[in-house]
Amino acid sequence: MAAPVGFDVLVVGSGAAGLAAAVTAERAGARVAVAAKGSLQSCNSAKAQGGIQAAFGDDDSPELHAQDIWRSSHETADMRLVEVLTSEAPGAIHWLEELGVAFTCENGGYRLARCGGASAKRLLQVGDRTGHAITKSLRDAWEASSGTSFENAPLRELEQTQAGWRATCGEHVIDASTVVLAAGGRCYRVAQERGELSTNHPGATGEVTELALALGAESRDLEALQYHPNGGAWPGNMQGYSIPETTRAYGAVLLNANGEEFTDSLGPRDQVSQAIFDEVEAGRGVETPDGRPAVYLDTTRIAEADAEVSLPYMLRRYRAAGIDPLAEKILTYPVLHYQNGGLVIDADAQTTLEGVYACGEIAGGTHGRNRMMGNSLLECVVFGRRAGRAAARN
Ligand SMILES: Cc1cc2nc3c(=O)[nH]c(=O)nc-3n(C[C@H](O)[C@H](O)[C@H](O)COP(=O)(O)OP(=O)(O)OC[C@H]3O[C@@H](n4cnc5c(N)ncnc54)[C@H](O)[C@@H]3O)c2cc1C
Repeated sequence: MAAPVGFDVLVVGSGAAGLAAAVTAERAGARVAVAAKGSLQSCNSAKAQGGIQAAFGDDDSPELHAQDIWRSSHETADMRLVEVLTSEAPGAIHWLEELGVAFTCENGGYRLARCGGASAKRLLQVGDRTGHAITKSLRDAWEASSGTSFENAPLRELEQTQAGWRATCGEHVIDASTVVLAAGGRCYRVAQERGELSTNHPGATGEVTELALALGAESRDLEALQYHPNGGAWPGNMQGYSIPETTRAYGAVLLNANGEEFTDSLGPRDQVSQAIFDEVEAGRGVETPDGRPAVYLDTTRIAEADAEVSLPYMLRRYRAAGIDPLAEKILTYPVLHYQNGGLVIDADAQTTLEGVYACGEIAGGTHGRNRMMGNSLLECVVFGRRAGRAAARN
């Protein structure tokens, strides 16, 4: 084990939340380290395709955005956090643009899509590789800074000291005044335990949450895991792929074996997933060639021009697998996707442990028990920046 090294702020995790926190803390003048379980690139954030919400439409506002979250969460979200999230969303988008993220535009403004549970078009996109674009710009900003990265350095132990916290990350012992936990969720591990498919990265295993809980941190809604309504069901190499929700925003609908629409395809995620489970249970689903349950997603209703601008990656992947989604319906079934709950935080992203902050999927409250799509990347940026600022102040 190497001799301890000291920093003002230690950020655990290099997804969108961790990098937003690290860049912000470093720009505030702190000596910052990022410790990641694998490489800096390995995270769920980079896999995000659909987009990020912010109220830019003429018929939209941060208040309407907040109301949609409240309704989609079944009135379980922490509205103090939600108001921060929605009011700071436009500023977060401009910050990302300053870092180099080029959101897809049309007619002199952003190209906005309506996502499940939203009452207005509010989803900004970078084609269908939004998470890749955001994490790349954040990583470039981080790597150009004076910060220190520890890769292949999983957090294994965390203990309070007189001056702050001591963390054991792989072979490194790191002392820091404050710690930002941004280690994501646990759906990869849970899916493995249940024998189910997941959209998640193999690093999404949840041990950092457990460390925090063992130290006495409070949590909320931890058992509320979210299924993505549209996991790829066939062909085999698309199983577990999350078909972007923007397919439905741009006209695709869910159909049962009889070709009937059985649910509002743009309803909140939990309702759409449950409707699919129920339809299959009632015997109106279809079966994949390898015997898995599924329903149809009729992607042939998407206009080719929309697909080319907003779904190029999805089209490429399916076409490479021998299926053209604009010419034939595709098979889909819900897959484990997101940890809705997590560590309790306040508006500065501080957990109930002194000097320990949490942001991104590891934190709870912003989505209550049911997240709307596009609000997770937003949460990473808004609360990542808040966590970075507050952690650098202490
Ligand atoms: C396929 C897919 C598509 C998605 N699409 C969208 C979308 O369109 N819009 C949207 O808003 N959201 C989307 N999401 C959700 C969103 O991307 C994630 O919830 C969010 O990016 C999580 O960010 P994060 O920074 O909290 O965690 P992650 O991005 O998962 O990063 C976690 C980091 O913590 C590290 N880590 C884990 N354990 C340890 C440890 N013990 N020690 C040190 N480091 C550790 C990991 O290596 C990683 O660097 C999608 C998710 C997936 C999987």
